[in-house]
Amino acid sequence: MRYVIDHDIHMHSHLSACSNDPEQNVERILRYGVENKLKHICITDHFWDKAVPGGDFHSSDAPTRFRWGDLEQVSQNLPLPQAEGTRFHFGVEADMDEHHVIGITKETAEKLDFIVVPNTHMHIIGLPTNLSEKEELEQRKKLFLHRWNVILESGLPYHKMGLAHITCDLAATSRDRCVKLWDSITDDEYKAYFSRTEKLGMGVEINEDPKCYTDEQFARILRVLKLAVECGCHFYFGSDAHHPAGFDTCIARFNRWVDLLQLEEDQKFCPFKD
Ligand SMILES: [Zn+2]
Ligand SMILES: [Zn+2]
Repeated sequence: MRYVIDHDIHMHSHLSACSNDPEQNVERILRYGVENKLKHICITDHFWDKAVPGGDFHSSDAPTRFRWGDLEQVSQNLPLPQAEGTRFHFGVEADMDEHHVIGITKETAEKLDFIVVPNTHMHIIGLPTNLSEKEELEQRKKLFLHRWNVILESGLPYHKMGLAHITCDLAATSRDRCVKLWDSITDDEYKAYFSRTEKLGMGVEINEDPKCYTDEQFARILRVLKLAVECGCHFYFGSDAHHPAGFDTCIARFNRWVDLLQLEEDQKFCPFKD
């Protein structure tokens, strides 16, 4: 049976500083879920646990160092509104800082319905500016795999955990360089990491928008996800929307991915009990 798009479980509310959009409130998010007949939706605001030292971020688009919301702050959306046929879950996007520390404890993770963790928020890592393009690419590849390994060794509750946007364009300084980064990782390297991801029972997220890339670039991104399929991974979809406009085309995009990867219903990752 063809994979059914019945969920979107990575998205942000106005509480994420990079949204800060009053229109991106839980009522509006629930309406998106209901209108698209989604069984499960989950907000995953950017998060750093108070109990974990560190978490002061710098970013090229923020003038000063900043810190994501803690549990108290992201909980301001609770209780979440519910609707018949659409369950609204509470999760977080737990970040990883420049020292490759994940900003969530096991205790906090247990209190949440779902957590997504990215290894690709590499815009927060200050790489030396004097590196050649080749040296920078080598550094990024090493960091990309190291950060993935940190997630795989975190001991967090993998059954309700997703590897966020593995082909996110924050992994390098331009989309072109991101594609070169994906290319630089060999089939065997991807297979080793995806196999471990699958063995732990973690979900693999799909959300990339083909429209952001040339066909030629997109084919190279597709290679990465096809290797995940080959390794038996289970997949979920996340729009990573930060504004209501982010919901406009995502269901069509998710369906395109289902066709491209020929996903079947038994390849679905669902962290929620029915
Ligand atoms: Zn992210
Ligand atoms: Zn996100």
